[in-house]
Amino acid sequence: MRQNPNHRLLGQTCIVTGASSGIGKEVALAMGRDCANVVVNYITDAEAAEEVAHQIEINDSIAKAIAVKADVSKEDQVQAMFQTAKQHFGTVDILVNNAGLQRDAEFHEMTLAQWQFVLDVNLTGQFLCSREAVREYLRRGKVDYSCALGKIICMSSVHEVIPWAGHVNYAASKGGVMLLMKSMAQELGPKGIRVNSIAPGAIQTPINRDAWETPEALNDLMKLIPYKRIGQPADIGAVAVWLATDESDYIHGTTLFVDGGMTLYPGFTTNG
Ligand code: NAD
Repeated sequence: MRQNPNHRLLGQTCIVTGASSGIGKEVALAMGRDCANVVVNYITDAEAAEEVAHQIEINDSIAKAIAVKADVSKEDQVQAMFQTAKQHFGTVDILVNNAGLQRDAEFHEMTLAQWQFVLDVNLTGQFLCSREAVREYLRRGKVDYSCALGKIICMSSVHEVIPWAGHVNYAASKGGVMLLMKSMAQELGPKGIRVNSIAPGAIQTPINRDAWETPEALNDLMKLIPYKRIGQPADIGAVAVWLATDESDYIHGTTLFVDGGMTLYPGFTTNG
């Protein structure tokens, strides 16, 4: 079925976690441009989240958006966010598990608190949000505006497969996201719920400022990217929207790498 490319998500509601900055912000704006109603989740920066919601409404008057504060690692706050979403928009159709962070340290110096914090937000947060989404999809039942009963998109990373020295908590969390996503996909596919991941490479956002802020750092980074440019949040926004539409309805249980070729082992380019 062909749909207007700018109205592909009309009538659907999307929750994007960690949407006040970086990739989440661009995913939220892109969902709004395709006419989804958007819950712009944030944890600290209310003003930035309100601005994202405002941008969605002025960019496209059909889409509605609200900013909702919740810590994705806290069960009660996640449940309250879904309640608010349902009160405002009736139901939820798309979840983008985007919130994530890093607390880097050399392995022998990593504290339990650093390990636990990253796992709590990056992995447990995706479990808690996905579980609430699935509960809502099952409660609400089939709709006529989407092939799937509901969609879940997990923001993973190339580090779901590339080991990362100095970042073992982060790499372990994203490796966990990979099998969380695949196991959910296996279990929930028969119920009509479509589950996938996006694995960004290096995307220019606040999380990895050190990697692109100086010309030297950017030059080093380019050695890891065969396509020779740093990714932009909009690169991920476009893919997330497509993964939420019926155009990708047969994509299920897959990680889409959006990385300019970072997973092609570029170190072997001249020394195979
Ligand atoms: P970012 O720091 O701009 O965005 C992360 C967002 O998550 C922030 O808005 C932050 O406030 C929010 N957040 C943190 N803890 C939270 C919590 N407990 N509850 C709710 N929100 C919380 O960085 P980003 O690059 O946009 O990262 C977004 C996602 O993309 C993360 O999952 C990250 O791991 C992933 N990712 C980013 C890159 C990259 O190169 N930028 C690469 C691979 C994966």
